[in-house]
Amino acid sequence: MDKSKKRIDREVESLADELFAVSDFLLANPEIAYEEFKACDHLSHVLEQNGFQVEKGVGKVETSFLARPDNCRPSRPAVALLAEYDALPKIGHGCGHNLIAAAGLGAAVALRRILGAEAGGLVLVGTPAEEGGGGKVRLAEAGVFEEMDAAMMFHPGSTNIPGKGMLGRIKFKMEFFGRTAHASGSPDRGINALDALVLAYNGINAYRQHLRPDGRIHGIITHGGDAPNIIPDYAAGLFYVRAGNRKYRDELLERVKNCCQGAALATGTEFKIEIDHPVLDPVKRNPSLETIVKNNMTALGITVDEDDGRRGSSDMGNLSHYLPATHPYLAIVEPEIPGHSTEFRDATTSSRGRQTLLNAAKMLAMTAWDFLNSPELREKVLRDFAKSV
Ligand SMILES: [Zn+2]
Repeated sequence: MDKSKKRIDREVESLADELFAVSDFLLANPEIAYEEFKACDHLSHVLEQNGFQVEKGVGKVETSFLARPDNCRPSRPAVALLAEYDALPKIGHGCGHNLIAAAGLGAAVALRRILGAEAGGLVLVGTPAEEGGGGKVRLAEAGVFEEMDAAMMFHPGSTNIPGKGMLGRIKFKMEFFGRTAHASGSPDRGINALDALVLAYNGINAYRQHLRPDGRIHGIITHGGDAPNIIPDYAAGLFYVRAGNRKYRDELLERVKNCCQGAALATGTEFKIEIDHPVLDPVKRNPSLETIVKNNMTALGITVDEDDGRRGSSDMGNLSHYLPATHPYLAIVEPEIPGHSTEFRDATTSSRGRQTLLNAAKMLAMTAWDFLNSPELREKVLRDFAKSV
């Protein structure tokens, strides 16, 4: 490690207790997408105490924030460190976003101290509602990232990898409409919306055998009727289709619509598909940024793992089409423990979770440092970004 990286290491270590406290505060106060008011206030407060000026509610998203070093004029190149802080319903921080926020904040504060008056290219963006809300898409569409040259964050997981593919995703509501009737006295007068939904579900299930490895379709029934003796006139479900590129993702939605059409024809019902916006794009990876992330992981003594091939989706996918972005993972649990679980949540305060938080802050700060200080790297990153996926 060179001198500046050693200094980053030391600065992050000196912030350890403060970062653990930030993570613990978020853990104790979980807030779901777009309701992260306490988190936004708390993070802003800690940043203001550490040499940042914070603007809340950027991009017309109430629980977002943008923090810039105080007494520094914004300059280019600019790096956006990202903080996610939304939790999941019922299980709280089962995705570990408390660590993401604390690590992003730690990296920003450490770099702020090192860069001093030269910190104008440093930004920390609070990006709400990753879980199903697409907060980053709203911020990007509002132009929040326009004056920035790269975006970086870390995500806790069960492997240490500098990056991996993420799937594009469309979330949608599926509704069938029929006619009520007494289920015993006059079944011939009813039109059964639940039967239609079950038929569509089975059609989708049959199609699932024929998906490409990157294709995913999953759904639940959210309304199946009101009483057994009333033929359901309304049934509804929530579904996702996912795929490794936009074209296949959109094709999967068309196939699902066909299943609905067949079910509607068979039952005499009508149906409606309502897409929940924003839809998520697959991530556009940046090999040059990932190489730097990997070098910094190695410098920190982190063993880089093989990509396990498991895939989810994130609004970081969309953001990666606006500007070069990187989304590495650092392990806080063994591979047996899935994300979105109470075990994963509890691991954020384990000694491994604590160590990973510090490692993540260092890795992000070092990567941002490299980006800000190397014109050759920035050129390579831009060249990667210009290539279409
Ligand atoms: Zn997450």
